[in-house]
Amino acid sequence: MRRSKIVATLGPASNSSPQIERLIRAGVNIFRINFSHGTPDEHRGTVSRVRKAARKMKRSIGVLGDIPGPKVRVGTLPDGGIVLKKGSKVFLKKAKSSSKGDFIPVPHDISRLEPGERVLLRDGLIVLEVRSASGKRIACKVIDGGTLTTAGGISAPHIGLGISAVTKKDRENIKLAVELDLDWLGVSFVGSPSDLVSARRAAAKSGKKIPVVAKIERAEAVDKLDAILEEADAVMVARGDLALEVPLERVPVLQKDIIVKARRHGIPSIVATQMLESMVNESRPTRAEATDVANAIFDGASATMLSEETAIGNWPVVAVRTMAAIAKEAEESGHACAEYPQWGSGVLVAVARAVQAAAGSLDAQAIIVFTLSGVTARAISAMRPRLPIFALTPEEGTYRAMSLYWGVEPVLIPMARSTDHMLEVGEEALIKGGHLKKGAQVIAVSGSAAVGGASNMIRIGRVGK
Ligand code: PEP
Repeated sequence: MRRSKIVATLGPASNSSPQIERLIRAGVNIFRINFSHGTPDEHRGTVSRVRKAARKMKRSIGVLGDIPGPKVRVGTLPDGGIVLKKGSKVFLKKAKSSSKGDFIPVPHDISRLEPGERVLLRDGLIVLEVRSASGKRIACKVIDGGTLTTAGGISAPHIGLGISAVTKKDRENIKLAVELDLDWLGVSFVGSPSDLVSARRAAAKSGKKIPVVAKIERAEAVDKLDAILEEADAVMVARGDLALEVPLERVPVLQKDIIVKARRHGIPSIVATQMLESMVNESRPTRAEATDVANAIFDGASATMLSEETAIGNWPVVAVRTMAAIAKEAEESGHACAEYPQWGSGVLVAVARAVQAAAGSLDAQAIIVFTLSGVTARAISAMRPRLPIFALTPEEGTYRAMSLYWGVEPVLIPMARSTDHMLEVGEEALIKGGHLKKGAQVIAVSGSAAVGGASNMIRIGRVGK
C-alpha cells in the first residue's frame, strides 16, 4: 500500500467521468480544482463528477479548491507596452501608471528591494537586477529584455508586502467552495497567518468550516513560515511562483525546510509543480523528474502534486500511475525520512507519541483511529508510523479530507451510540471491508464517541475479540 498521497489537478484533459474514474484507479487521492480557470457552473459539474465517481468506487477522494489570490502586477503602461532592452537602465517607481519608456510603475510597496536582487517580469521572461535604491526610485539593469505591457506580473523578494491574500474575487470562489462542500481550500500567495484566518472566516461566514492549505510561494511567507504553519491545516510547497520570488537555488532547500517544519507542526505537506512536467507531452518522465518525485518522498512529504500533467497533458492517467509507482518504490526503499521530530505538547501529541511507541514495540498489524474531526489521525500520521493507519469516522467530510493524510486509509462507519459500540462497529467495518482479519492485533485510539479532537484512550487488543 502506497502511504504518500497524490493530488491531481483537473482540467480539459481529465474532467470527464470515465477519465476521473481512471485517475482514481491510477492512484489519485485528491483532485485539485484551480479557480483561476473555469466558470462556477463548470466547477459544479466537475465536483459532481468527482463525488459520483468516489461513491461508485467506494473511495475516500478529497477535492481541493485552489483560490488564485493576488498576483502582484505592474501598473498602466503606454499602449503597446514598453520595450526593455538587454543592458539598458530602467526605474521601478511606486505608482499606478507611467507614460515614460524607462519607468515601470508598481502600485505596491517596493521599498524593501535591495541592490543585487532580481526582479522578474512576465513570469520570469524579463529579468532585471536592482542596482541602487534611492527613496522611491529603484534603479535596475535589464538582464533579459522583452516587451512589458500593462498589468504584467512582477515578482521579487518582498514586493507587495502586506497585500491581503484573499481578494474580492477569492471571496466569491470561497462562497462557491462552501456551496460545493469542498474538503480543502488552497490559499495562494499567503503572506502572513492572517491571510489564512481571512480565508477560513470567509468560508465560515458562508456556512462551512474548510481546512486551509497555505501555499508557500512568496518570500514574505518564507520569512513568516513558523507563524503560518501554526495557523495552517496543511501546507503546499508551491515551487512555481516560489522560484520567481526567491533565487531558484533556494527552492530545494526551502522544500526540505517546509516539509520538516510541517511535520513538527503535525500538518500535511504537498510538494507541487513541474514534478513530471515533461509528461505534459511525453509518455515517460525524465530521469531527473523521477528522482524529484522520489526525493520529495525521501524528504517526508505527505503528498506530491500534478498540475498541467493531469489538467492539460497528453498522458494524465500514465502520469498518475508513474508518480504512484515512483512514490511506492521510494517509500519501500528504506531511504524515506522515517524518524519523527518532536513537536508540540498536550493530550493529542502525547497520544500520538504513545501510539508510535506502541507500534515500535509490538507485532501489531494496524493502528485504528476513531475520529470525528480527523485531528487525531492527522497527529498520528505526522509521526509516520510503520503500521497502516485506519481512520474510522461517521463524518463524510472528515472521511474525504483525511485522503490527504500520509499513511491514512479513511473508512466511513455509522455513527455510534457509545464508545463500546463505536469500537464494535469499527472493527466490524474493517473485517467486512477486507482490511483486517479477525484476531489481528491492533492499537486502537479513541475518545468519547460524541466529541471531536478529544482522543484520550489507547487500547491494544485483537480485532473482533
Ligand atoms: C505554484 O506556483 O507552484 C502553484 C502550485 O500555484 P498555481 O499552480 O496555482 O500557480
